[in-house]
Amino acid sequence: MFRMRVSAISLLVLFFAGFAHAKIDEDGFEPENIIQRDVVIVGGGASGTYAAVRLREDLNTSITNTTLEYGVQSYMHYGPTVSFFERFGIEFGPFTSRRLTTINVDVETGKRLDYTPPAANETTEALRKWLQFVEKYNDLVEPGFWNFPPPDQIPAVFLTPFGEFVQHQKIEAAVPRIVTISGVGVGSLQILPTLQVVQAFGLAVTKGVVEGTFIQPKTSNSLLYQRAYELLKEDVRLNSTIHETERDHSGVRIVVKSGSDTAKTLIKAKRALWTPFPSQYNLKPFGQDEKEFQVFRSWVPEWSYVGVASIPCIPENSSIQYLPREVEPSNHLAIRHYPHSLSLGTTGPSGLDLFRVMLGANYSVTYEEAEEMVTSGVQKLIAAGTLNYTGHCEVDMKALSAHNGVLWPRQDDTLEHGFVQELYSLQGYRSTWWTGRSWCEEYSSNVWAFTDTVLERLLKTLE
Ligand SMILES: Cc1cc2nc3c(=O)[nH]c(=O)nc-3n(C[C@H](O)[C@H](O)[C@H](O)COP(=O)(O)OP(=O)(O)OC[C@H]3O[C@@H](n4cnc5c(N)ncnc54)[C@H](O)[C@@H]3O)c2cc1C
Repeated sequence: MFRMRVSAISLLVLFFAGFAHAKIDEDGFEPENIIQRDVVIVGGGASGTYAAVRLREDLNTSITNTTLEYGVQSYMHYGPTVSFFERFGIEFGPFTSRRLTTINVDVETGKRLDYTPPAANETTEALRKWLQFVEKYNDLVEPGFWNFPPPDQIPAVFLTPFGEFVQHQKIEAAVPRIVTISGVGVGSLQILPTLQVVQAFGLAVTKGVVEGTFIQPKTSNSLLYQRAYELLKEDVRLNSTIHETERDHSGVRIVVKSGSDTAKTLIKAKRALWTPFPSQYNLKPFGQDEKEFQVFRSWVPEWSYVGVASIPCIPENSSIQYLPREVEPSNHLAIRHYPHSLSLGTTGPSGLDLFRVMLGANYSVTYEEAEEMVTSGVQKLIAAGTLNYTGHCEVDMKALSAHNGVLWPRQDDTLEHGFVQELYSLQGYRSTWWTGRSWCEEYSSNVWAFTDTVLERLLKTLE
C-alpha cells in the first residue's frame, strides 16, 4: 500500500499559492483545521466509498471523504463488483428472493384489479429481445457515456418515446419486470426517450435478470461499507456539511463543518470528486458557475422512499402492487400511468408482519406524506374488502428512508441539443470530477465501473 510522499504534499502547498483572488480567508483557520489532500470526495455512498478505497489504497493518492451510508439488496456480476467484495473479505452467493403472491390493486380504490400480468415465458422472451437491443448499443452508454455520439449521430431509437419503441418491438411483456426492478418512469414511462430507460435498465442488469446471475453478500449488505469505513476512517469526515467552495483550474478549497465540531475545517485539494446527485439544492454550497448551472438547472426531481412497516392485516408472503386501472385487462405499458407507485411486500422473518415499502412519485412527497400514503393505501385495501379483514389495521412504520434525486432533463430536444456532451464536458472542468448514478447506469456495479473510468482520467491530470 502506498501513500503520497511528503514532498508531494509540499508541492500541494505551492500549488495553492495560485489562488490569486481567493475569497476563503485561510488565516481564519487554525492550522489543525486545515487539511490538504490530492482529492476531496463529496458523498460517501456507493460511488464515493468505492472511489475512496481505489484512490487511497490502489492509486497512491491522499483523499478526504464526508459521509457513509448503506443500502441495496443484490449486485450484478459485472465490472469490479466481485473484486471489491473480495478485497473486504465479503462472502457472497447467488441472490435468492422470497416467493411472494402478488395482489394487484387499483391505486385509487384498493380494489383487486382484473389484470393479467405476462406469463413467465413471455417476460423472458421479451427481455431477451431487450437484451439484444441494449447489447447492440452498449458501447455508447457503458461504462458511462464517454463515447456517446454527437447529436446528429444519435441512434434514432434512443430518442423514440419508450411506449412507441415497446409497441414496435412487441416487448410489452418485459415492461412490468423492467419497472419493478428499476423504478423507472413513474407517471411518464411511455413518453420517456428510450435512452433513459436504457440508462435505468441496461445490459448488465438485463443480463442479471435473464441469466439469473445476481449475487448477494452472505451476511449483510452493509458489511462492505462498514469494512470500507474501518479502512478509511482516518480520512473520513462523517456528517459533514459544505459551507463554501472555491474551485478553479488550479485546485479546490472547501470549507466544511463536521458533526458536532464547533470549528469549521478548510480542505484544500488538487481535485474534487462529486458523487451525490447534482440537484440545485445539493450544489448550492459547491459554487456552480454559469456553465455548470446551464447543465444542471433543468433536471427533473423524483421522490422515492424505501422502508419497512409492520402491517398485521396483509397476509404473509404477499406483495401488494398498487397500479393504475388502465392496466386492465393486460395493458402492461400502462403500469406507470399514475403519478405515484407503491408496493408492499413481505420481508420476513415469519410471524412479524413486516413489509418492504417502495414508494415513488413524480411530485414532491415529504416523509410524513410518504407514511400517510402507506397508511391510507392499507386502509383502502380494507375498505375495498380486498383483504377479507375488518376493523382497524395499525400500520407501524419501522424505518423509512428517502432516496430522492434528480433525473436528466426531459424536454424532447435535450439530447438532440448535445446534452450528453455538455454534461461530460464538465469532467475535469474547474478541477472537479463527477461520478455516481446521475452519470451512468443506475446500479452499484455500474457506478463502480464508471467510477474507475473517472479516476483513470482524474489521475492523468495529476501526473
Ligand atoms: C430503493 C433502492 C434499491 C436499490 N437496489 C439496488 C440493488 O438491489 N442493486 C443495485 O446494484 N443497486 C440498487 N440501487 C441503486 C444503488 O443504490 C445506486 O446505484 C447507488 O447507490 C448509486 O451510488 P451513488 O454513489 O451514485 O449514490 P448514493 O449511494 O446514493 O450515494 C450518494 C451519497 O451522497 C450523500 N449526499 C447527498 N447529498 C449530499 C450533499 N449535499 N453533500 C454531501 N453528501 C451528500 C448521500 O448521503 C450518499 O451517501 C437501489 C436504489 C434504491 C433507491
